[in-house]
Amino acid sequence: MNIDDLIKESEMELKDKFKEIDDLAFRTSEKVLNAFRNNNVSQAHFNSTTGYGYDDLGRDTIEKMYAEIFGCEDALVRSQFISGSHALTVALFAFLRPGDLMLSITGIPYDTLHEVIGIIPNNSSLASFGIKYDQIDLVNNEFDEAKIIEYLQNHDVKLIEIQRSKGYSSRKSITIDKLEKIINSIRKVDKKVIIMVDNCYCEFVADKEPVAVGADVMIGSLIKNLGGGIAPNGAYIAGRKDLIELAAERLTVPGEGREVGPTLGINKQIAQGLFFAPSAVASSLKTAVLTSMLLEKLSYNVEPRWNEPRADIVQNIIFGNPNNLIRYCQGIQMGSPIDAFAVPQPWDMPGYEDKVIMASGSFTQGSSIELSCDGPIREPYIAYQQGGLTYEYGKLGVKRAIEELMKKDN
Ligand SMILES: *Cc1c(COP(=O)(O)O)cnc(C)c1O
Repeated sequence: MNIDDLIKESEMELKDKFKEIDDLAFRTSEKVLNAFRNNNVSQAHFNSTTGYGYDDLGRDTIEKMYAEIFGCEDALVRSQFISGSHALTVALFAFLRPGDLMLSITGIPYDTLHEVIGIIPNNSSLASFGIKYDQIDLVNNEFDEAKIIEYLQNHDVKLIEIQRSKGYSSRKSITIDKLEKIINSIRKVDKKVIIMVDNCYCEFVADKEPVAVGADVMIGSLIKNLGGGIAPNGAYIAGRKDLIELAAERLTVPGEGREVGPTLGINKQIAQGLFFAPSAVASSLKTAVLTSMLLEKLSYNVEPRWNEPRADIVQNIIFGNPNNLIRYCQGIQMGSPIDAFAVPQPWDMPGYEDKVIMASGSFTQGSSIELSCDGPIREPYIAYQQGGLTYEYGKLGVKRAIEELMKKDN
């Protein structure tokens, strides 16, 4: 069967799944629209500040909208966060003090946090400040609840980190239902521990978000889901008011906190990105589901399968060999609007231990709500594909990548 027919056939089979995704996007869009209306957003909010950035009405209003949409007391949404990793770093340094113990209950955290925590030595790590770290691995993709509870009963843990999206691992991502269940169990034995959720790639994939199910704070990047492909950079931290204040004082200056931080003209893009985010996430989900079905029909191993519950917008294809991974990523690049002529190669990306290949023909550098595909060059050679600002462009990119893959197999 040729690729166009295979796509047509798959789209027929995915009708109900796509309807589910559209219905979800309708509900999240309604939340977003209500936040705009409830906060009386107007042209005045698109004005800009420079210098110290005092009294930035747009910035402060965007933060109120984030808090409302995610059911949080407060939120910090700033372009001074240079990435999701930076926001996670600021949060960890803001909440933890020398002698404190941090516990990850989703195994080893995302690659870029290894030097932050001190898992890989770094003179500026949390460990270098005397902050201790421990982790409990998932077992068969589930929280090791008994071990977590026992650990909490025998140690004074200051902060629990939960990473929902799989990062560059081969585990499954954590759905909101699983998150809610483990938080309820933790709260039965420890009311005080700060529960911090790395929510990268998970926003608007379900009706509920981590703080609404009991987490204290959630963190993510604006060049992923919530920027809707429009925000030029930045990240957010949302949750308990006291924690947001600590994070603001760490990000800027103790005593100045959230009162400073110029927006340099990007308020409109951040607001408009939020407005588009529910649809961009829906397009990404449809692209992911289609990819999963197509590649499975072509006898590749995929995770998640098309009909499995999804916690994030990431689609894995487990290639099992470096050549197919590289070819597929190169095909995604060829099917992208920007730098379609470039041929991505594995390289030593800062913050990552293995060589990484990264296809990202995006308007915003490194944006992964735009169709993108990457993966470390290590066993079992998994492609991590995500994004698709519109389903049509997502489909075109994936089609191009499959054509590259087939060319090689012939
Ligand atoms: C993307 C991501 C991050 C942050 O990455 P940045 O590229 O620094 O924004 C952190 N955790 C997970 C699970 C991610 O997917």
